[in-house]
Amino acid sequence: MKTKVLILGAGFGGLELATMLSEEVADEVEVTLIDRNDAFVFGYSKLDVMFGREQMADTRLPYSKFVKPGVRLLREEITAIDPEQRRVTTDAGVHEADVLVVALGADYDIEGTPGLAEHGNEFYSFAGAETLTGVIADFTSGDAVIGVCDAPFKCPPAPSECALLLHDDLVAKGVRDDCTITFVLPLPSPVPPSPEASKVIAGELEDRGVRFVPGRRIASLSSGVTVLDDGTELPFDLFLGVPKHRAPDVVIESGMTEDGYVPVDFHTLKTSFPGVYAVGDVATAGVPKAGVFSEGAAKVVARSIIADLGHGEPAEPHKGQGACYIEFGFDRVARVDIDFLSGPERTGSIQAASKEFVAEKEEFGSSRKARWFGI
Ligand SMILES: Cc1cc2nc3c(=O)[nH]c(=O)nc-3n(C[C@H](O)[C@H](O)[C@H](O)COP(=O)(O)OP(=O)(O)OC[C@H]3O[C@@H](n4cnc5c(N)ncnc54)[C@H](O)[C@@H]3O)c2cc1C
Repeated sequence: MKTKVLILGAGFGGLELATMLSEEVADEVEVTLIDRNDAFVFGYSKLDVMFGREQMADTRLPYSKFVKPGVRLLREEITAIDPEQRRVTTDAGVHEADVLVVALGADYDIEGTPGLAEHGNEFYSFAGAETLTGVIADFTSGDAVIGVCDAPFKCPPAPSECALLLHDDLVAKGVRDDCTITFVLPLPSPVPPSPEASKVIAGELEDRGVRFVPGRRIASLSSGVTVLDDGTELPFDLFLGVPKHRAPDVVIESGMTEDGYVPVDFHTLKTSFPGVYAVGDVATAGVPKAGVFSEGAAKVVARSIIADLGHGEPAEPHKGQGACYIEFGFDRVARVDIDFLSGPERTGSIQAASKEFVAEKEEFGSSRKARWFGI
């Protein structure tokens, strides 16, 4: 009898987990990977699309190219999860599993910020980023506000990157002096686990004349004005927002969440339900919400499943280590190395922005493209 592994969500976590199981124990497992979409897109491609550096169609990696022995990838909408029975309902039927892995990411709660949908723009969804391509291209004078509606949110450096890239865009158009940029962030600094990286990014913002407002979140928007959580009003002509995040409704309705996300053992990614793991943005796992950490968590779960099948060493605890590439504008990328779980304290260090890291970031994407999609 093969072990039935059911993986919900074919994002960073789901793709890596299915790939490892296929590589190492394809003959002993029956892996079913379910996603509602027909393609995977790297989160950072949203910045490329909104600033006109890439077309959305070119960023899509079709799931039809994800072909792995022992794995079937189904395009279905997950409508209910029963973690006690390890039974999942979709718009196409019911799936049962010996091992269930929830890797459904985080959703956006656009309505959670009054006025965001009507008066602002968000750049965290693919549709939002695509809409912004034209909006940013047409913005040539006035006040721009980049605002984060709440924490936690995916890829903590991304809104800082957005501010730096917007400056670049305005300089390239020759209109920087006709515009202001204000950046509102609920965190105390751009990358809290790394004071060193935060200092460098804050310095870059200052050098570009970006007004940085840390420790505040966007509370609401009306026509041309956003209100912060302390009542401060900021006028804007262009609003680029990061919406509130939450676990997908189907996960909340399953009863698995606490404080909005699925609690797991930080080192094993096990939930309180036997045979059920949660990896990536959907979990409270002691690490930031970023693809590199979802992938790292998936590797630990894969090792654990493989060890339970009697192969290899027992899984090592999740160390919460990963490198984040930060766009600094003007074709430069910096690298921040984060370590959240291996020692007594979280640490983070930054390596200065350079063209070499542009190439390394490209390699980060192309290596995953090749590994998961064979392209
Ligand atoms: C602007 C931006 C820049 C970023 N830059 C980086 C970066 O440089 N480096 C980095 O590491 N991370 C980056 N990220 C974050 C990264 O994209 C996410 O953290 C990562 O994708 C999370 O992986 P995951 O596997 O947990 O979930 P996801 O990759 O979000 O995958 C979840 C999957 O579940 C599917 N799903 C959800 N609900 C259902 C349902 N009901 N039925 C069926 N399928 C469903 C979704 O379609 C999705 O494919 C960035 C994000 C943004 C927005």
